[in-house]
Amino acid sequence: MELAQKTACELKRMIQTGQVSCREVMTSVLDTIEKREPVVQAYLRALDRAELLARADATDKKNARGEDIGILGGLPIAIKDNICTKGISTTCASKILGNFIPPYDATVAQRIAEAGGIVIGKTNMDEFAMGSSTENSGMKLTRNPHDPERVPGGSSGGSAAAVAAHEAVMALGSDTGGSVRQPAALCGIVGVKPTYGRVSRFGLIAFGSSLDQIGPLTKDVSDAALLMQVISGHDPKDSTSINADVPDFMECAGNDRNLTVGLPREFFGEGLDPEVGKSVKDAVGLLEKAGCKVVEVSLPNAGYSIAVYYICACAEASSNLARYDGCHYGYRAEGVDNIVEMYCRSRSEGFGPEVKRRIMLGTYALSSGYYDAYYMKAAKVRKLISLDYEAAFAKCDVVIHPTTPTPAFKIGDKTENPLAMYLCDIYTVTANLAGIPAISLPCGRTSSGLPIGLHIAAAHMGEKTMFEAAGKVERLLAEAGKWKL
Ligand code: GLN
Repeated sequence: MELAQKTACELKRMIQTGQVSCREVMTSVLDTIEKREPVVQAYLRALDRAELLARADATDKKNARGEDIGILGGLPIAIKDNICTKGISTTCASKILGNFIPPYDATVAQRIAEAGGIVIGKTNMDEFAMGSSTENSGMKLTRNPHDPERVPGGSSGGSAAAVAAHEAVMALGSDTGGSVRQPAALCGIVGVKPTYGRVSRFGLIAFGSSLDQIGPLTKDVSDAALLMQVISGHDPKDSTSINADVPDFMECAGNDRNLTVGLPREFFGEGLDPEVGKSVKDAVGLLEKAGCKVVEVSLPNAGYSIAVYYICACAEASSNLARYDGCHYGYRAEGVDNIVEMYCRSRSEGFGPEVKRRIMLGTYALSSGYYDAYYMKAAKVRKLISLDYEAAFAKCDVVIHPTTPTPAFKIGDKTENPLAMYLCDIYTVTANLAGIPAISLPCGRTSSGLPIGLHIAAAHMGEKTMFEAAGKVERLLAEAGKWKL
């Protein structure tokens, strides 16, 4: 097995015991990028090979001297292109930010560096994180490493494809309505959306500020716990960041506790691919056999979640994206006669079609006369969805269901029909609306070999329970021989 194929926790152990050097790990990952990137196209920017090897060497030297190299010491990590990296362009895969080079690091990037991780590149995404297939990127098309005719999911499709193709050991994405968990499911890896406020959003380019969270995409649950350990915790630079202790997530992932599992009846019905449903139910069967209690729960307002999400997310996006006006950041149209024309043309030429659609939908929902009918109504139903979860968590520790209704779909299949694309998020948006933590992990494959994702949500700030359940499912699936990346 090539080094690049190993998990972060395995590599960490091998580096720290001197079994392999950081240079060897970095070389293996960079060679894999060279080999697979021509098809997969996960990266918008991979950093310079010589520079990355020099950084790996510096970590090796530190290690040889017996100094602490940090809990991510020397591990190659990819970052989604909506997370600011000092001196490295950060475009949100949008023409409007095509020339933007942040003068500062996002808190998560800074924490990765402080923990010894090495950022190796910035990954492709749907423009401004709006989409479920990465086909809305203004830059390039990313392909699913399991089947290049299919999408990797989105919007963090580049990060998911990079990890699944072993072109990065771990990656960061962002999740507003499912953008970490859905591509993780479609690419056969693990993805976490933390509790809203658990991870700092400072330096994350805003889409829907009341929904956005940064989260890890990794090869297994322990790696997700490791990266969560590094990026979680209070940050005074983000006013929505929660000031609470960070539990030892890695220890939680190894705990063996018999939990009560709730299956929401609304998420096993119409529209669910039978193979996906069966695979998730089989995994729940393994939990039950191992001593967990399984109960049915209900999320009665979940049927409204897509409508509520697309009103709230678009409303927030229309306000957040007002700053791209040709003056403050990025692209400015040339040959204009006056300032109004400059605003109009810069925005018309700089944004892609999906971003424009969302700005218009959001502006409409917030406009006077429609605000009460749309935005206020959506905000009220959002609260009801949170209350549904509170009622469910009174009966169970975790809620389990499929991450997506179908496995990865063919490139081009849904691009003509935005509503069909929006429905990909039907099982993931509720966790964002309620602000609760959730994880997707692979639980098997379809008969044609495509990965299937299982979704575990826990109560607000319940990452500890979420990791306990995820670790247990992963161990049981491995024993049953159900999954291997
Ligand atoms: N697919 C959803 C959307 O298009 C979610 C995106 C996200 O989580 N960033 O809005």
